[in-house]
Amino acid sequence: MELLKNKIREEGLVLSDAVLKVDSFLNHQVDPDLMKEIGKEFAEKFAAEKVTKILTLESSGISPALMTALELHVSVIFARKRKSLTLNDNVYVANVRSFTKGETNEVTVSKSFINKEDRVLIIDDFLANGQAAEGLIHIIEQAGAALAGVGIVIEKSFQPGGKELRDRGIRVESLARIQALENGKVQFLEEAFQ
Ligand code: 5GP
Repeated sequence: MELLKNKIREEGLVLSDAVLKVDSFLNHQVDPDLMKEIGKEFAEKFAAEKVTKILTLESSGISPALMTALELHVSVIFARKRKSLTLNDNVYVANVRSFTKGETNEVTVSKSFINKEDRVLIIDDFLANGQAAEGLIHIIEQAGAALAGVGIVIEKSFQPGGKELRDRGIRVESLARIQALENGKVQFLEEAFQ
C-alpha cells in the first residue's frame, strides 16, 4: 500500500535493527484518513472470506481493526491485556509475550462475543515473531470459530512470524512488508515478493 509506505518513509523512526517507531500515525497519535484507507484495503482483500467478527489486541490494533470493521459491517472485539473488574470468569485466555515490552500478558476475551458460528478476521498493527497473532488464534480455537485470515498493517518480514503463519496455511495479508531496518533506514520488500 503506497500511501502507508510513504507515511512510513516520512515519519517512521528506526529505533534499532529490529524496532520501528510509528507513534505519529499508528501507535500513539492516529491518522484517521490513513486508517480509513487501511480499513478499505483490508476490507477489499478479505471481502470473499465471509468475515463475521474482527479480533484485535488492545490498544494499537484497535484503530485499523475498527476501520476495517466499519467497511465490512461487522463488530470488532479487542482482547484485553489487563483483567477488567467487569469481566467475569467467562473468558477465553491466552498468553502473549510482548515484542516491545518483553513481558508476558494474559489476554482475555469474553465468551459472549465469539462462538463456533463465527468466521474471525485478526487485525493487528505489527507482525514480528507472531506471538500476538498466535495468542489471538488460540482464542479463536477455544471458541471453536473459524479463522478467516490475518491482516497486518506493518510486517517485518525479517522476523519469523509471517512465514510461520503462512507455512501453516493461514492467509496473512500485510499492507507494508519490511525487509530490513538497517543503518537507520527502512527497506521494504520488493513489490514482486510481497
Ligand atoms: P509479535 O507478537 O508478532 O512478535 O509482535 C507484534 C506485536 O508487538 C504488535 O502487536 C506490536 O504492538 C508490537 N511490535 C512488534 N514489533 C514492533 C515494532 O517494530 N514497532 C512497534 N511500534 N511495535 C511492534
